[in-house]
Amino acid sequence: MESFVYEVQANRVIFGTGKIKKVQFELKKLGRKRGLVISTQEQSELAEKVQSLLSNLCGGVYTKARQHVPLDTVEEALKLVRKQNVDSLIPVGGGSSIGLAKAIALHTSFPIVAIPTTYAGSEMTPIWGITENGLKKTGKNLVVKPKSVIYDPELTYTLPSRLTVTSGMNAIAHCVEGLYAENANPIMSLLAEEGIRTLSLSLPKILADPLDTNARSKALYGCWLGGTVLGSVGMALHHKLCHVLGGSYNLPHAETHTVILPHVISYNANGAPEAIKVIARAIGCDENDAPGALFDLMNSLEVPISLKEIGMKESDLDVAAKIATETPYYNPSPINERAIRQLLERAYKGIRPQLVNI
Ligand code: NAD
Repeated sequence: MESFVYEVQANRVIFGTGKIKKVQFELKKLGRKRGLVISTQEQSELAEKVQSLLSNLCGGVYTKARQHVPLDTVEEALKLVRKQNVDSLIPVGGGSSIGLAKAIALHTSFPIVAIPTTYAGSEMTPIWGITENGLKKTGKNLVVKPKSVIYDPELTYTLPSRLTVTSGMNAIAHCVEGLYAENANPIMSLLAEEGIRTLSLSLPKILADPLDTNARSKALYGCWLGGTVLGSVGMALHHKLCHVLGGSYNLPHAETHTVILPHVISYNANGAPEAIKVIARAIGCDENDAPGALFDLMNSLEVPISLKEIGMKESDLDVAAKIATETPYYNPSPINERAIRQLLERAYKGIRPQLVNI
């Protein structure tokens, strides 16, 4: 067995239908008295519900969170934080709302009680990001990792089918990269395999019946595992490509993860053969066909399977390959610009991937 380092990042998880009602209890447990509720505009009704559950422990509501945490929203929210004299943050929503809470925590060190409603997994990581002048700066700091996370599957029933599937694929991507990250370890690999299995079984059930309570719970559980893996071990080529495509070409976050993942698994087949076996076992396919089987799964779930469908221009592929290879993340297969350009071309065209020799 290879040597490894395993670090525990403590937090509390409250999981179950109706558990949103525990929000006041969780804030009190942290010894806080004035929480700022944070959401996107689209989820302002849910933010109001959290406000009423908090009752006199609510210090304000900010409902202008946006994707990729633009700096102007951070500055505006910080003004509200000072004006209302709040002492804690309660994001309710997906990675955008949680991301804004993290950016505020970076400045204030206020504890976060997160109530996620997508499968992106940000609530389980110490990773923050802020976008200024079109450039997203990211970093890691334990101060931004939520102290308490309430997973209430009922809040995910309204997640539209397309976002349900692509967000679930985002969580599967966290698990996949955790299997071959530079600091991978056997504990996180167990969680990663279970996460891939749980999500790949539950997403088709949710598509067939968005109110399938058991499948919704299982998907949220899988997302918790994916977020935990992402927060504990590093990322590799897949996340690097998604950051470049999202950051430089403004492609939608979860859909980009969905399109790119099978192609990266294919790219990494030689460098991470054990991980490919685990992925195949988790999705229940032949180990020589893991990327293809994942591609088929997405195709059957009615989500985009090509970069072209989500707004990428073919003429941008050369520059994207260049940017992605200039300062690469650690990756088990060697990174070279020509091979990455070919990967992007296959993803652009939505070609079913096979195992590739790099
Ligand atoms: P999102 O938070 O941007 O949400 C997308 C849209 O769906 C929003 O309008 C939101 O209000 C709506 N929505 C969310 N939950 C809903 C529900 N249950 N019902 C109906 N509508 C709902 O999407 P996301 O994919 O969760 O987050 C993407 C962002 O998170 C990106 O900026 C990404 O970089 C970041 N992210 C960060 C980390 C991290 O560790 N820091 C991890 C994953 C993602």
